[in-house]
Amino acid sequence: MINKETIDRIMDATHIEDVIGEFVSLKKRGANHIGCCPFHNEKTPSFYVSPSKGIFKCFGCGKSGNAVGFLMEHEHYSYPEALRYLARKYNIPIEEEEMTEEQKERQNERDGLFHVSEFAQKYFADLLYNDEMGRAIGLSYFHQRGMSDEIIKTFGLGYCKEGWSDFTDHARRNGYSDLVLEKTGLTIFREDGKVYDRFRGRVMFPIFSISGRVMGFSGRVLSKEKQAAKYVNSPDSEIYNKSHILYGLFQAKNAISKANKCYLVEGNVDVVSMHQSGVCNTVASCGTSLTNEQIRLIKRYTPNVTVLYDGDSAGIKAALRAVNLLFEEGMHVRVVLFPDGEDPDSYAQKYGSTQLQEYLATHEENFVKFKSRVLLDDVQNDPIRKTEVLKEIVQTIALVPDMLERQEYISETAFKLHMSEQVLTQELAKTMAAKAQKAWKEENRRQQQAATQQAPAPQDPGVPPPLMPEEEDYGPATIGPGHTAPTQILPSHNPAEAQEKQLISLLLNFGSRKVTIETLDDNGQEQPAEATIAEVIVDEVCGDELKFDNPVYQTIFDLFSQAVDSQQPLPDANLFAMHEDNMVRNTALSLMINSYTVSKQWYEKKHIAVPCIETHLREDLDQSILTFKQKKVDQLLEANSYRIRESKTPEDTDILMAERKQLTEIRRLLCQKLNRVIV
Ligand SMILES: [Zn+2]
Repeated sequence: MINKETIDRIMDATHIEDVIGEFVSLKKRGANHIGCCPFHNEKTPSFYVSPSKGIFKCFGCGKSGNAVGFLMEHEHYSYPEALRYLARKYNIPIEEEEMTEEQKERQNERDGLFHVSEFAQKYFADLLYNDEMGRAIGLSYFHQRGMSDEIIKTFGLGYCKEGWSDFTDHARRNGYSDLVLEKTGLTIFREDGKVYDRFRGRVMFPIFSISGRVMGFSGRVLSKEKQAAKYVNSPDSEIYNKSHILYGLFQAKNAISKANKCYLVEGNVDVVSMHQSGVCNTVASCGTSLTNEQIRLIKRYTPNVTVLYDGDSAGIKAALRAVNLLFEEGMHVRVVLFPDGEDPDSYAQKYGSTQLQEYLATHEENFVKFKSRVLLDDVQNDPIRKTEVLKEIVQTIALVPDMLERQEYISETAFKLHMSEQVLTQELAKTMAAKAQKAWKEENRRQQQAATQQAPAPQDPGVPPPLMPEEEDYGPATIGPGHTAPTQILPSHNPAEAQEKQLISLLLNFGSRKVTIETLDDNGQEQPAEATIAEVIVDEVCGDELKFDNPVYQTIFDLFSQAVDSQQPLPDANLFAMHEDNMVRNTALSLMINSYTVSKQWYEKKHIAVPCIETHLREDLDQSILTFKQKKVDQLLEANSYRIRESKTPEDTDILMAERKQLTEIRRLLCQKLNRVIV
């Protein structure tokens, strides 16, 4: 919706160090700012921000990006939300592309619903402190549970009066329409014309969206009246869908990311209580049992979930259900069961926060252990039930990705069930084979579908494929948001790594700089001409049909080469900051932030005063290209001598020897040129 010019204006106005500085304390060091990374726990700073390039990079966990990427990662904004945030910060009016009438109406209605919800939240929060009943009933309830005023504020807690329509009257007086009051469910309009508040005489827990807007409420009754429901929740509306949101996520999201773990509890009070006890990475599915959408929300921040449940049988059942669902979504699940009759809130109140934290740390169980313990307690000596339970446990064990861990569970289960490990192992193998076959069929079907949609890429037979290092683990190519990128980005045994890196670094940092080169005119005379560094490098590398062994470098090079060929603007920091491939993004940004230290080291090693890089750019460029080529020739020579050793006929050997002679000559020439540059 935001048009291109506005995006450009926002990006131009943005100072990345200000944006990140609001969340991380940064110190200036040289051209960069550094601080402790907000995405992983560290004591010594490895998080770099480059104001001139508008990018950040953590050398600890590998996260990198521009200001928009930072907000998306840290605040979990969507792309347009991040842009809007920056536009607000720098006072840039947003020019939206024309919305249709229908879209406008919808937008207005949604805004109206958000407004009245926010208005209601402020009203309820105010009553908690400034109304006699609010203080006597609501505030004293929260204070009794050990909740500080600060926590009450963080969660926007409030109180609503007992009367029939106090809130509705107040909202109407402030100009809110009956339509928005009805749509948010704050007011109930009866057919007989009677109007009354949905929430009466309750303590109020507002439910926030991920970006912190009030979407709905959950009200808890405090009186002992039997007929009143313990909790009343807002109905689903245009802005609120209870199966798509978790209570406390807005307040917990950063703690979840940082701890790389999420505690899942049953009720709102538990969430607030856990926060009060210093366990801030806690959320609850409020008003529903856990849904797949809610799990996917957690997954945006961490794959690790610990389910906290009451020790009664209903609690155990709920925990079992949640555990299965979480596992189906590929989460790493652990479980903590509280003693019978206790929940996180009551436990924290009885024993205090230190004890609660200690209990959580010591009572965490792996889900397989938890499940088999619970199921086995249930079996007693019923042989039919025993077989069923056995099958169920084995199916759960089959979900464990680690082989040794699976074996451990098999042994444990065998011991508990008094069975031979062999029988269980066979059962496990059968289950896993069925699973693998199903996955294989699925994959086959997917590939066939993809093949019919896409013609195969043409293969150029003339060019040998780039030498790909084998068995190198680059980590997953794309990693979901919120997850850590691999720290070691570059393949370690690429023999030409240093030379390739140097060239790519030049491209990234000085690609658009102009240098003077010698070209031949029509009469074969050398003439000086101007070219960009990118043009020179692309020309030299493509002219000799050279490739980068590191596939990430090759991708970066290709982007430059395409831009040069089509005379488009060269790829810049923003392009790489938003690049979909994490490896490309992290590598490019780290080379840009680490800008150009290689030649500095070279001068230092030779005990020559480090010159200003800018003035020696031309020499550095020549040297980098020549050493890159020299390394590539060395690689060809090495391959050549291997083939000579392996050659079967004298004819083959002759051809290979001739090739060797040629290569040696090229190498000699390269060295000659290189010496001229170096000395
Ligand atoms: Zn980090």
